[in-house]
Amino acid sequence: MADPEPNTGHFARLDGAGFPRFAAGTVWLVGAGPGAPGLLSLLGYYALGQADVIVYDALVGEAILDWANPAAEKIYAGKRGGKPSPKQAAISSRLVEWAREGKRVLRLKGGDPFMFGRGGEECQTLTDNGIPFRIVPGITAGIGGLAYAGIPATHRDTNHAVIFLTGHDETGAVPHGVDWQAVATAAPVIVMYMAVKHMAAIADQLMTGGRPASDPVAVVAKATHADQSVVVTTLGGVGGLAERGELPTPAIVVAGPVVNYRDVFAWREQLGGEATLG
Ligand code: SAH
Repeated sequence: MADPEPNTGHFARLDGAGFPRFAAGTVWLVGAGPGAPGLLSLLGYYALGQADVIVYDALVGEAILDWANPAAEKIYAGKRGGKPSPKQAAISSRLVEWAREGKRVLRLKGGDPFMFGRGGEECQTLTDNGIPFRIVPGITAGIGGLAYAGIPATHRDTNHAVIFLTGHDETGAVPHGVDWQAVATAAPVIVMYMAVKHMAAIADQLMTGGRPASDPVAVVAKATHADQSVVVTTLGGVGGLAERGELPTPAIVVAGPVVNYRDVFAWREQLGGEATLG
C-alpha cells in the first residue's frame, strides 16, 4: 500500500488560542531537545514565534532558530570552537535586564533546562530579582538521544532504576561529590553527560566499585543530528577509546544491559530517510 500524503493542514491549528500568554517582561526557559528540530515541544515552538529576545546555547539545533519570530534578536550564549563561554552570572543578569525593559525573553537551552543545564541557577537569579518566568521542559539527550540510538533508558527485563550523572563539575574536574562506589552498583544502567573527557578515570572508578569490565557501553555522539554516531564497547574498553581521542563529542555515554537492545532496535539506521526535522 502506498504511503498516504502527509496531513500538513493541521499545523495551522498551532496558531490558535490555548497557549499561555508570553507576557512582556517575562522569561521563558525552554528546552530545545537534543538537536533534531522536530523534537522541540509545541510550547517551545509557540514561544519562538512570540519572543523579542532569544538567548541560545551551543547545543541547540540551528534549524530550530529558523522558527524564531523574524524580528527577534538572537543572541548566542554558548561556547564553540574553543572560545570561552560568557560567564553564567553575566547571562543571568542580562536576562533580568531584558525582562525589565519589557521584552519577552526566551532562554533556549539544549535538551532539558533542568538536566545538567544550569536552569536552576537562572531561575534563582530571576526569582531574586522578581522576574516572572516559565519552564518549558525539553527532551533530554540522556533519554531522547539514547532512543535515537535504539537504546531504551529502561526495559523491565533489565533495569528498574537509572542513574544520571555528569562527568564534569563546575571546575571541569571529575565531580568529587559522587559516591562512585555506591553509583557503580546502585543501578544496572548509568547515563553519563559530559563524561568523555574523564572517561578513563570514571570507568576505573566504576570498575573499582564493583562493575564488571564486560559491562556493555555505548557512546552516542551528536544524537538525533544528521551526523549522529554510535560506538559500542565495554566499560573496560571505553577509557582507552577516550584517551586515544576516538570518541566524538558531544556525547552521551550509557553503561548497562540496555545497550544490547541496540542490536535489534537500531531503528534510525534501518529506516534511513531524508527528513530534516527528525
Ligand atoms: N540540558 C542538556 C544537557 C546539557 S550538558 C540535556 O538535557 O540534554 C551537555 C552535555 O549533554 C554534552 O556534553 C553531552 O554529554 C550531552 N548532550 C547534549 N546534547 C547531545 C546530543 N545531541 N548528543 C549527545 N550528547 C548530547
